[in-house]
Amino acid sequence: AADAAMYHAKTLGKNNVQFYSADLSRVVHQHLLLEANLNRAIRNREMVLGYQPKVDLRTGRIVGAEALVRWHSPERGVVGPDKFIPIAEQTGLIVPLGDWVIAEACATLRSLAELGVGQFVISVNLSARQLRQRHFVERLAATLREHRIAPNALELEVTESQLMDNPAEALEALAQLKTLGVRLSIDDFGTGYSSLSYLQKFPVDVIKIDRSFLGDVASDGNAVITRAIIALGHNLKLEVIAEGVETREQLAFLQDHECDQMQGYYFSPALPQDRLSSMVCSGVRMAL
Ligand code: C2E
Ligand code: MG
Ligand code: MG
Ligand code: MG
Repeated sequence: AADAAMYHAKTLGKNNVQFYSADLSRVVHQHLLLEANLNRAIRNREMVLGYQPKVDLRTGRIVGAEALVRWHSPERGVVGPDKFIPIAEQTGLIVPLGDWVIAEACATLRSLAELGVGQFVISVNLSARQLRQRHFVERLAATLREHRIAPNALELEVTESQLMDNPAEALEALAQLKTLGVRLSIDDFGTGYSSLSYLQKFPVDVIKIDRSFLGDVASDGNAVITRAIIALGHNLKLEVIAEGVETREQLAFLQDHECDQMQGYYFSPALPQDRLSSMVCSGVRMAL
């Protein structure tokens, strides 16, 4: 009986191993498939930027927008960045993709300038891997020149957790970028483990309060954190923007606590470029 039990355990174990390896190879296979498709997608111009308006909380005016990439896949339909950015980061495809995002955002800034819109800021999200690239700063400078964009019309968002992964290295990269005159912001603030001494040293202009804290600003914990982040930002002479604002209550809370800007579905999701342009040109304001 003992032998039988042993035999049973072995076959079970063996089957388990086979099960896991079959599963793993399926994951690897899907990953390779996605990687190949992503490569092709970049070449075939299947990537599209959406622009989510950012609103000044004192005036209700649209003062900028965040560029968010989407993949219009012929096979899968519209694919969100959470599905492919991590793979693009792992495979290095984030470098050509990121270059494209920046160039496209600059082209939109140029077209807004041609339409007579002054003082508009577009932000793009950067991966740590892009920051680490050699000659990133020089290439960025060339792209800005090529599109005749004032550097302070472009903002680069890096998440707090990516910055804090290697804060010394990040500090150096940000300092170099800052010499160009672009704006810098810390995305998803409050979700990483910030070293406050670094926060003070980073040459950033903006902190973005992560939307998880706004989820329920009526709850004591979130209200305290949101207020603390706004105060921290202002004490460090930074602008503070709240992302993921969905309700009138959240908006009122942010106004009461003098948050500078907001973005979120309450006002607008990310829009195609032409819709952003017509909103901005027609001077649409958010009712405060
Ligand atoms: P993120 O930079 O924190 O962008 C905010 C995300 O929240 C966006 O999701 C946006 O559509 C979503 N959002 C905006 N307002 C609301 C709201 O009121 N409620 C809720 N529930 N969500 C809201 P999206 O577009 O799926 O992007 C996800 C993440 O993908 C971004 O987070 C950013 O980290 C990354 N990402 C997007 N585009 C790029 C890119 O070009 N390069 C890199 N490296 N990452 C990107
Ligand atoms: Mg962002
Ligand atoms: Mg964010
Ligand atoms: Mg995020």
